[in-house]
Amino acid sequence: MVTVEADRDGVERRLAAGELWCPSCGAALRGWGRARSRQVRGADGPVGLCPRRSRCTGCGMTHVLVPVTALLRRADTAAVIVSALAAKARCGFGFRRIAAELGRPGETVRGWLRRFAERAEAVRSTFTVWLAAVDPDPVMPEAAGGVFADAVTVIAAVAAAVGGRFALPTASLAETAVAVSGGRLLAPGWPGSAVQHESTLP
Ligand SMILES: [Zn+2]
Repeated sequence: MVTVEADRDGVERRLAAGELWCPSCGAALRGWGRARSRQVRGADGPVGLCPRRSRCTGCGMTHVLVPVTALLRRADTAAVIVSALAAKARCGFGFRRIAAELGRPGETVRGWLRRFAERAEAVRSTFTVWLAAVDPDPVMPEAAGGVFADAVTVIAAVAAAVGGRFALPTASLAETAVAVSGGRLLAPGWPGSAVQHESTLP
């Protein structure tokens, strides 16, 4: 799976120009049909998701190009899920209140918060590495009062740094979370060994 921008035309242009690369071998990806479409629940209703598939011109592996609006195997858009994480981190809201505000079942929201909480330290560490990579002179965020909040704060710092470095409008919190995690922010097995990497930073 490869994470791409939400703009479909832009993705097609980059595919045609050979500007998307295979995560396995680094060769250019070509268009290869579409993955099965599904719907995810956005803040204002259902959003159709019909990801492009691609095939590597080098090793022949196929890769689904998943837009930064979606997290792997989640039925809600990344924006909705990350807004729940931010509400807990910034306002200290509990899952019931967040669920009521988002119009989602309490158990669903509790599941997102729990999954994120379990990996918050690893997430914080991973995004701290990214922050240092994106910004040569990063302002490390101050402790936000707990590892859950710290993790969200570092994601926000990376989003701001990406926006500043590439002169883009500040990359949204959710898009940054999806792009850096390859859609796996709440998926099993992520973020792997990031904690070890951080100790190698100056
Ligand atoms: Zn390849």
